[in-house]
Amino acid sequence: MIKPNRLSPEQYAENFSDIKPPFDNKEAALVEANRCLFCYDAPCTKSCPTSIDIPKFIKQITTDNIKGSAHTIFVSNILGGGCARVCPVEKLCEGSCVYNLLNEPPIPIARLQRYSTDPAIENKWELFHRKPDIPVKVAVVGAGPAGLSCAHVLSREGINVTIFEKEAKGGGLMTYGIAAYKVTPESCQDEVDYITSLGGIDIKYNQTLGVDFSLDDLQRDYDAVYLGIGVGLANKLNIPGEDLEGVEDAIRFIYDLRSHPLNKIAVGDRVAVIGMGNTAIDAATQSKRLGAKEVTMVYRRTASEKTCTQHELDIALLDGCNMLWLAAPKEIVGTNGKVSALVCDLMKLGAPDKSGRPAPEPTGETITLQVDMVIKATGQSPYTELVNQEHLDNQKGKISVHNTATNIPSVFAGGDCVNGGKEAVDAVQAGKDGAAAILDFLKIKSK
Ligand code: SF4
Repeated sequence: MIKPNRLSPEQYAENFSDIKPPFDNKEAALVEANRCLFCYDAPCTKSCPTSIDIPKFIKQITTDNIKGSAHTIFVSNILGGGCARVCPVEKLCEGSCVYNLLNEPPIPIARLQRYSTDPAIENKWELFHRKPDIPVKVAVVGAGPAGLSCAHVLSREGINVTIFEKEAKGGGLMTYGIAAYKVTPESCQDEVDYITSLGGIDIKYNQTLGVDFSLDDLQRDYDAVYLGIGVGLANKLNIPGEDLEGVEDAIRFIYDLRSHPLNKIAVGDRVAVIGMGNTAIDAATQSKRLGAKEVTMVYRRTASEKTCTQHELDIALLDGCNMLWLAAPKEIVGTNGKVSALVCDLMKLGAPDKSGRPAPEPTGETITLQVDMVIKATGQSPYTELVNQEHLDNQKGKISVHNTATNIPSVFAGGDCVNGGKEAVDAVQAGKDGAAAILDFLKIKSK
């Protein structure tokens, strides 16, 4: 049965508490910071999409210069607080730390990053100053990582930025699309408030491109426009039974979970999650943490081809989720209009496909899972209809750009709506690149 309110308030609080808690004392942080070798050619920095000077901010921690350390982080990544919580650091900075080569634990870069950025945001440290106002207005569509990062760079130059956001809160996927035990709604809000505290950034909420305004409107009223609209539509499975009660898409499930009290979120007794990306993991682990008795992740390939990181898979396994490898959904069976089972083709791996990974092929055998809820997490599609409606050149919905400039004069774009969906930290860098291109277009020199 799918129902809410399965746990006590204490159980909800425990299940959704911070999975990577910050250092609880200065000494612990200093011990780790002092392990850093301050590598000259720091591979950790090279593997950060925003190129944070990691040895520098760690060195500043060792000298108790926490404000300086926070500035070093924010100057490269103004969402450095959120990224420290949600980045897959095991395949980025920490995965590149030289200590891995010595078979020793890498420097806990993300936790050290929180050590500096948490107090900066909490105490509203004024680490940046906006140049005097200039008579230039830029519109940014989307208050996610790309839009916020773009807006912050532009505002520092004295430009007045208006962000149009379709949701009631800023932060984009940080706020609405990532597991609540990684980043809380409160910390997302604090981060948005910190970014806008610079001044010169006005966020207009509940404003949807194509509904409340058009690109034509923005072109008319602003000197330049930056689109950071992300991706949003969940891919369909295209199998019988997809419309039954109890079939949800992972993005909607996580969105509801992030925007309502946890005890209001309904979850099944036995849940199947289709897919093996990080969003699938977030949906599976949170189903379990909401009180589902059994959660099975279904993937048509093997663990070797999974798209989530091993660290993410380990979280799901530790939470007690089952893995069904080499199985592809064939039909969702219903009883009285509600999900009662999921039939899967059993697969084997064949020759590599276009992705370079072995293509799964049906063996002719099937397996049936008795489930009452199916969560689809097989990727998201770009807003094809919207970008066509706004006459933006695109490839299957992904906006085509040249150095972030679209085919429409004075309109720039970046982040997931261009690349189809990457990490939040990639979107932050895309926002910086967009801001640099806009400054160049407006012939404004930043120092
Ligand atoms: Fe420090 Fe590791 Fe980066 Fe070297 S690679 S600078 S040890 S965090």
